[in-house]
Amino acid sequence: MMIQGSTQNLRQLLQRVRNWALANSPWLVHYNSGSCNGCDIEILATLTPRYDLERLGIKLQGSPRHADVLVCTGPVTRQSRERLIRIYEQMPEPKFVVAVGTCSISGGAFRGCYNILGGVDAVIPVDAYIPGCPPRPEAVIHGVAALLKQLQPQRAAEIDHLLADMGATPEEELIDERAELSGTR
Ligand code: SF4
Repeated sequence: MMIQGSTQNLRQLLQRVRNWALANSPWLVHYNSGSCNGCDIEILATLTPRYDLERLGIKLQGSPRHADVLVCTGPVTRQSRERLIRIYEQMPEPKFVVAVGTCSISGGAFRGCYNILGGVDAVIPVDAYIPGCPPRPEAVIHGVAALLKQLQPQRAAEIDHLLADMGATPEEELIDERAELSGTR
């Protein structure tokens, strides 16, 4: 009984350490499920010294087996569907999916094409959506920051401070700009 209790405590402790590590330093894996490459270039820009996403503790790496967050661009084509599912299944729990760009949200410019299944959530569950065609690096950073704040609400002020320090465009300005471009204001 005693051993059972301590095993459970150890498991809870390990889970807490794991959640803490994930929220402080999530590793991303990037997958293009049918994008025109516009969104991918913006994601790469967020990793350059100009925007430096790594300042938020975020690291891009190659293997889904080591990743916490799947960043997906483009609509899902019939050809890429199986690979997307395989990548998602290879990621360890807990895992999160961020859909970057209008195409990954709804199919966007490719919607209705014979080889398009729709947005990413037509195939796997999505936790955060970053709209835009393509979204600016600032929008990508805000989307990832929103996910981080959700994972560790007590770090919200620190993350906001880091964003301000990075000189990131305030979220309200991005929303205004988006509304202007889409003609809704
Ligand atoms: S949202 Fe725009 S830039 Fe991104 S994949 Fe679609 S068409 Fe290309």
